[in-house]
Amino acid sequence: MKIALDIESTLADIPAAFRDEYENRHGEKPDISTTWGFENVSYGADEFHKITQQIWEENSLKILPTEDPISIPTRKIYETANGVDLVTGRQGVEEKMRKWADFQDVWYDDLYSVSSQEEKADLGYDVIIDDSPRHIDTLHDDQYLFLYNQPYNRNYNLPKNASRVDNLHQCELSLLEVRTKDDRFKSAQHR
Ligand SMILES: [Mg+2]
Repeated sequence: MKIALDIESTLADIPAAFRDEYENRHGEKPDISTTWGFENVSYGADEFHKITQQIWEENSLKILPTEDPISIPTRKIYETANGVDLVTGRQGVEEKMRKWADFQDVWYDDLYSVSSQEEKADLGYDVIIDDSPRHIDTLHDDQYLFLYNQPYNRNYNLPKNASRVDNLHQCELSLLEVRTKDDRFKSAQHR
């Protein structure tokens, strides 16, 4: 069972880092977007991307994890799978992300970035753990998606091979359930 584990807003609390930096620059807290496309807030995808890219470049170790401590649940996920890669849609800060993951003692094998033209669902992983609703439509029938709950992904209907998780512990329980009911993974265990 190979897992693609997302970094931003799944492991790293990028919404919180963005809110702090936005407040520094504008003197007021930004609204929290409840849509994936930022349609209901005063900033756009470009500003969000620019600010968060800069945070990774200049202040990455200050980015908090979504859960504290994050190391323990990632170890449990690692031990439940037989391969966990960190897979991010952000490019250009891979080295900073590796340092962040090591600093937080996240358990993983490798880290890959994909371009916006590539789909994580096409990379051959059995399970995708991610906050992005874009994987709902690209998910293959023989894959599982655990959608990490965030305000902007709540209004999506999920296919039967996808489910929502509130935290990484719940994710581990869902992985154990998949291992029990899907014959392909019954003997799976991390090497
Ligand atoms: Mg993400």
